[in-house]
Amino acid sequence: MQVIQGKSIFGGIAIGPIIFFTKEQNQVKRSKIEDTAGEIARYEAAIVTAQEQLGKLYEKALKEVGESGAQIFEVHQMMLEDDDYNDSVKNIIETQMVNAEYAVATTGDNFAEIFAAMEDEYFQARAVDMKDISERVINVLMGVGEVSGWEEPSIIVAEDLAPSETVQFDKSKLLGFVTRLGSSNSHTAILARTMNIPALIQIDIKEEWNGKMGIIDGFSGEFYIDPEPEVLEKYQEKKAEQEEHRRLLAEQKGKPTVTKSGKEIKLFANIGSVSDLPAAMGNDAGGIGLFRSEFLYLESGDYPTEDDQFKAYKMVAETMAGKKVIIRTLDIGADKQVDYFNLDKEENPAMGLRAIRICLTRPEIFKTQLRAILRASAFGNIAVMYPMIISVDEVRKIKEIMAEVKAELDAAGIQYGEVEQGIMIETPASVIISDLLAQEVDFFSIGTNDLTQYTLAIDRQNAKLDEFYNPHHEAVLRMIEMVVDNAHKAGIWAGICGELGADTGLTDRFMAMGVDELSVSPTFIYPVRQIIREYEGPTK
Ligand code: PEP
Ligand code: MG
Repeated sequence: MQVIQGKSIFGGIAIGPIIFFTKEQNQVKRSKIEDTAGEIARYEAAIVTAQEQLGKLYEKALKEVGESGAQIFEVHQMMLEDDDYNDSVKNIIETQMVNAEYAVATTGDNFAEIFAAMEDEYFQARAVDMKDISERVINVLMGVGEVSGWEEPSIIVAEDLAPSETVQFDKSKLLGFVTRLGSSNSHTAILARTMNIPALIQIDIKEEWNGKMGIIDGFSGEFYIDPEPEVLEKYQEKKAEQEEHRRLLAEQKGKPTVTKSGKEIKLFANIGSVSDLPAAMGNDAGGIGLFRSEFLYLESGDYPTEDDQFKAYKMVAETMAGKKVIIRTLDIGADKQVDYFNLDKEENPAMGLRAIRICLTRPEIFKTQLRAILRASAFGNIAVMYPMIISVDEVRKIKEIMAEVKAELDAAGIQYGEVEQGIMIETPASVIISDLLAQEVDFFSIGTNDLTQYTLAIDRQNAKLDEFYNPHHEAVLRMIEMVVDNAHKAGIWAGICGELGADTGLTDRFMAMGVDELSVSPTFIYPVRQIIREYEGPTK
């Protein structure tokens, strides 16, 4: 048995077999081979596996983001059937007597270059796909990139996980994850909380753990590999206790979220996709306070169409049956990168072209999303909010675009409902001018994850800075109070949708500040409700 101390990013106990997840980080090397026929057979087998993977991805995307988002995987399947591509790979293997990985990498690069040089935009865009499919085949050849042998619920151990990788995992089989890198405030950590799975970071992982039994103690931060029978038994009991504790908390179900002095608090859930809805409903969310819509883009191989987005937003609105659903417009950039956006590499992506800045520089993408949101608003109680706002001008620009989209829908005779517009307060600039911004919008939602990062000048992605990243910093708390005061002066409500909203050590203080809404990962709803219901002090 081995016990390793790491850092917990979400509590809970997970017990199950370990799968070591290797990423596409292996460099392709050119090596000489003798048996060219054997190498070609290896290549052909890899193509069959890659086709199967793409088939599965197509099915998954079809369910989660709809037909047009899934289509890209069909296109990739067709590209892998292309004779020119296959002949080129085989020719390189035969004539140069080299390994299949090298032949695929060379063919992929050559074809991508040819496509990139074409006049037609459609073919230019296929250059990225060429690289993508070649990488997939190389990963199959090298046995990396995909989670193989994942039949039963397991613990995933990896160097690091990007949000785009985490969302691809089959949630029903993911018991927990353990990584060497990653920080407590990264989106992967947030996903773990939303999915309600124990997760540890800063563990010096080892490939030899693959297939062994593991235990994650998300309370102490310990990771057990190959536990002794008595340790296993102790943790099985702890897990049962944890489930009992959850059951007790569930007694909060159906109870109103009201302080002793009678202030009703909106206690909403944060979700990343339609598949988080059962957790939100199961934990009695009063609404959806943050729908991180960018996950629709992360899960898709190409820009999700208006219809795909419409279907997802409509489903959330209908499922929540009249309860408020706040859709945050896409917040791509920083750690949430999507290849098909073709964004330049930046020195400081957290301070770069992200979120609303992308929407304002590429209004066609923004308008597609707004149209989808407005159309879905005819089916429920939808509100929209905009991330990373720093100025009144931005908000006015956004409102103009929104008015244009509404005029287009009116002209086409398409129905939509009343959609409140709010902004996220997650930059110090927006805090300082919150009195002015409050004149422009219907509500504020404070994104404490980014607000802490930009206020303390601490990269939320940098694990080495975790000890300095202090969301309880008085500067952050004073900012929250200032925002709430300015909101109330203008007659609008203010909530918190960053992770701090779920910090039960601060719930009383938020009540005293007059915070009107808390939007938290579904599993935190009951613990927060319990404290709010016991709060006796004044509220502003
Ligand atoms: C935040 O910054 O607090 C927030 C809720 O947005 P995200 O974590 O998605 O950046
Ligand atoms: Mg943010």
